[in-house]
Amino acid sequence: MRVVLLGPPGAGKGTQADRIAARFELVHVATGDILRANVADGTPMGQVAQAYLDSGELVPDEVVVAMMLERLTQADCGHGFLLDGFPRSVAQATALDRHLAELGTPLDAAINLEVAEEELLRRLARRGRADDNAQTIRNRLQVFASSTRPLLDYYEEQGLLFSVAAAGTIDEVTERILHAPSDVPGRPRP
Ligand code: AMP
Repeated sequence: MRVVLLGPPGAGKGTQADRIAARFELVHVATGDILRANVADGTPMGQVAQAYLDSGELVPDEVVVAMMLERLTQADCGHGFLLDGFPRSVAQATALDRHLAELGTPLDAAINLEVAEEELLRRLARRGRADDNAQTIRNRLQVFASSTRPLLDYYEEQGLLFSVAAAGTIDEVTERILHAPSDVPGRPRP
């Protein structure tokens, strides 16, 4: 199974991705974690990425696409993967699709976690990561709206999109995700 998890920063993608990946024995590939590890290790890619992470902007598509396609060709991804934080733009999504089409292993689903903005702000303030200060949070939400939100239409047109309300407890959201394919197709988004 090959799944993409979408949703704004603070929607709980990382937490839910861990659970869904464990349940289906998928590799959880978190783009932000890979980028932060590169920053911490001071790799050349980390040096490029640092300013983007600090400001909440997207790391340039060509950098992230090269990094992710390389990661997806590693053997552990052959049995399926859950992508958390990638793609984040239509250009990234088309690059991913092209790569998977060449391998004959297309995506099975794109799961979108929906959360009201006030709840996102509450969650991000509680999380306290380095890029969770007020200015960066505002920028990351704006970047989501302008660059990442169009992906919802992109995957809906392919019939792959399942939207899940991500309010409530962690367990409740996990249950909704596990039932998403039978419950949600075609449901209008707010
Ligand atoms: P995350 O941990 O997914 O919230 O990502 C943290 C930061 O890493 C983002 O604010 C971006 O600066 C960068 N980042 C993560 N994923 C991507 C991506 N797919 N494309 C570009 N930048 C990304």
